[in-house]
Amino acid sequence: MILIVEDDRAIATLLARFFEQEHTKTLVANSKSVALRLLPTHSFEAVILDLGLPDGDGKTLIQTIRKDLNIPIIILSARHEEAEIIACLDLGADDYVTKPFSTKELFARIRSASRRSSGTPATQNSYTVGELALNTQNHTLTKNAIPIKLTPTEFSLLEFFMRHPNQVLTHKHILKEVWGVGYQTQTQYLRTYINTLRKKIEMDTTRPKYIQTESSIGYRFFQLQE
Ligand code: CA
Repeated sequence: MILIVEDDRAIATLLARFFEQEHTKTLVANSKSVALRLLPTHSFEAVILDLGLPDGDGKTLIQTIRKDLNIPIIILSARHEEAEIIACLDLGADDYVTKPFSTKELFARIRSASRRSSGTPATQNSYTVGELALNTQNHTLTKNAIPIKLTPTEFSLLEFFMRHPNQVLTHKHILKEVWGVGYQTQTQYLRTYINTLRKKIEMDTTRPKYIQTESSIGYRFFQLQE
């Protein structure tokens, strides 16, 4: 069952209908207080969370949910709310979609986030995505079986992306994990590294297939799912 926290009745109904077709049950909470009442008494697989709610900021629910539950939280937000989206992701939300959104896209995001939260994959030694094969033991990358030279930082960055496929990663999150705590605000620095990495792994850097830009928010490493 999925909890839809949304005060706009048209959107809530649209979502509920869509999930019904997908044989997924839903409950709608039209305010924070209703959501807080429903959360402890039901077993939800995921939460879809609107940010603007009549009794306050939906963002504050993220921490409450994260305290007890390891379920995907997908943010529904307006397009101009980048700062809010970033704050939500940093608080532990899994993903976001901006209004107007496609229900199919939203469903795909939920499935992808559910897969990630259910199986915490052990650290792997090798990752294969499309034409790319990364081996963390020998520190090698091949593209179509041809070796590609990466600097240690580029390698760490790509490895971090490959460990988190299809997940939106904020600039701050990537900088913290790959470079360390002191680098969290060095967005331009990250951008430079992304550019050089893209030149090495992408066919067309103007239309990247692997490292996709989430405008003003961060990046998402795209991995096709069967
Ligand atoms: Ca709203």
